[in-house]
Amino acid sequence: MRITCVGGGPAGLYFAVLMKLRDPGHQVTVLERDAAGSTYGWGVTYWAGLLERCLAADRVSAQAIRASSVSWQQGVAHVGGEQVVRSSDEGFGIGRHRLLELLAARAQELGVRIEYRHEVRGREQLGPTDLVVAADGVNSVLRDARFGPTVTYGRNRYVWLGTPQVFTAFTFAFVKTSHGYLWCYGYPFDAGTSTCVIECAEATWHGLELDRLGEDELLARLGAMFAEALGGRPLLAGVGGARWQTFRTVTNQRWSDGKVVLLGDAAHTTHYSIGAGTSLALEDALALADALGRPGLALPEALAAYERERRQALLATQSAARYSARWYEELTRYLELKPEQFFALLGQRHSPLLPHVPPQLYYWANRAVEESPGLRRLRGQIGRRVARTLHRRG
Ligand SMILES: Cc1cc2nc3c(=O)[nH]c(=O)nc-3n(C[C@H](O)[C@H](O)[C@H](O)COP(=O)(O)OP(=O)(O)OC[C@H]3O[C@@H](n4cnc5c(N)ncnc54)[C@H](O)[C@@H]3O)c2cc1C
Repeated sequence: MRITCVGGGPAGLYFAVLMKLRDPGHQVTVLERDAAGSTYGWGVTYWAGLLERCLAADRVSAQAIRASSVSWQQGVAHVGGEQVVRSSDEGFGIGRHRLLELLAARAQELGVRIEYRHEVRGREQLGPTDLVVAADGVNSVLRDARFGPTVTYGRNRYVWLGTPQVFTAFTFAFVKTSHGYLWCYGYPFDAGTSTCVIECAEATWHGLELDRLGEDELLARLGAMFAEALGGRPLLAGVGGARWQTFRTVTNQRWSDGKVVLLGDAAHTTHYSIGAGTSLALEDALALADALGRPGLALPEALAAYERERRQALLATQSAARYSARWYEELTRYLELKPEQFFALLGQRHSPLLPHVPPQLYYWANRAVEESPGLRRLRGQIGRRVARTLHRRG
């Protein structure tokens, strides 16, 4: 099979690796707009479940990814002048740059051709091929009107930065200003660097005139605001600079059109506050490679099976992402809570119930559930029933 992947991000590269592993006879080419090693962003998080799935699919790349990752087992929130610590599931961080370097090396070792600095402007431009994988990210050029795309914009502003402060836990910090709160999420991703995403409401952003500052001034100002969490270390801008953005949630009515199929962010995005987009992109690649390898399925059937399975699998994560984004957009609801309570509800921000229940009441009810094995079982049963209902509705 001749396969052209447009985009050398995690989705495109991992899919290329998987297809070559399934059949070294496939001719797989990845066309990447940027130069090798020049990707945007800092570190990305993932959890043990992803690692297990990747280990089963390709031990070599999964072990290399694990070896280049750092991990943590705690969350810390700096809020209201206090520091609250909670234990958490083990989380992992890896530099996006390093992840792509590892996947590209693995792909090339297996015989994938990667053409860097090759920007694709439309499907007509591509040569003869049996399958086009549009893995060209949130601004995909291949995702035209034929896919029925919808893009909705988040209400808050964010900027994706780095710092030489090495957080030892997943770190949140909430800072009060004369125009409302700013907050950051920080996590380590190698021995000397952490990611630091800073977010605020649109009114705060305008009120503090953050929209008007030059890059150096912005980094210095934000660095001073978050000095406590950053231990006085600076903030750094990456490739593309310190750009404020609003999050775009992408959905599509269909994920394939003829021989073109969407993968990763080109197909769907999930708010960064749940740190899942890269994992989902890799899982898309696993599912697509799996569907294409199923005996007896013609290409249209395989693409339809991939879409069906991934849409189902994404439901819970997309719901969590929507509620998480909303939690931050409605932050003022939670600011009256004591720091310990605030952090507990920060951990519950994916809940569809939380926006509809007074925060204090939710906090105490949730605590009662946590302390009672019977109520915890009941909550599990209700959760599974809701998941089954969502699954049936598709
Ligand atoms: C602030 C922030 C924090 C995040 N943190 C996390 C996290 O902690 N954990 C996590 O799992 N996810 C995280 N994500 C999400 C994650 O970055 C994306 O979901 C993931 O990168 C999607 O992978 P992809 O391969 O689909 O797209 P991308 O990684 O965007 O790759 C697309 C590739 O296509 C190339 N390209 C684009 N257009 C063209 C073209 N026309 N021709 C050729 N090449 C092209 C691009 O240069 C790029 O290399 C975060 C996102 C943001 C914004």
